[in-house]
Amino acid sequence: LLRYCSKCGSDQIDFKVPVDDNLKRYICSACNSIFYTNPNLVVGTICIKDERVLLCKRSIEPRFGLWTLPAGFMENAETLQEGALRETKEETQAAPKIIAPYTAFSLTHISQVHFFYLADLKNEKFGPTIESSDVKLFTKDKIPWNEIAFPTVIKTLKYYFNDLDKGEFPFREEALKLW
Ligand code: ZN
Repeated sequence: LLRYCSKCGSDQIDFKVPVDDNLKRYICSACNSIFYTNPNLVVGTICIKDERVLLCKRSIEPRFGLWTLPAGFMENAETLQEGALRETKEETQAAPKIIAPYTAFSLTHISQVHFFYLADLKNEKFGPTIESSDVKLFTKDKIPWNEIAFPTVIKTLKYYFNDLDKGEFPFREEALKLW
């Protein structure tokens, strides 16, 4: 929801289909500026060390206190890999080596795309941060499945442990409708 025009400051904002367009947009009726809103990209990593996965316990909302893979909103002027590594550092202090793109999910109901890289942790230099109260490596049987913050994280973890049994880690891209 847009209340004020960021160009002229007017509060006369309409939500309607512009001429020569096919979707509703926020339009300032004072200066005719059109404001486009587009999906947000969340990028992160599934970091591996000796077949264990690095999870962090969220000390921020949403999903405070639940476990997740390090990930967050991509910033302007950074690459996917830079975003994934930055978020990983911010949430876990870890500096892994990216191996390959691993999962991508289109979440149409919230207009987000979640993208995870498979990454090699290399060492055990990681720990809590402002955003994470705890950071730990988990084997498959120790994953707190009922305390995972997001469905895309659950899916990515399940793919990893299934792939681990087969020894192959293909990239997967899918739409996820339910939150
Ligand atoms: Zn305006």
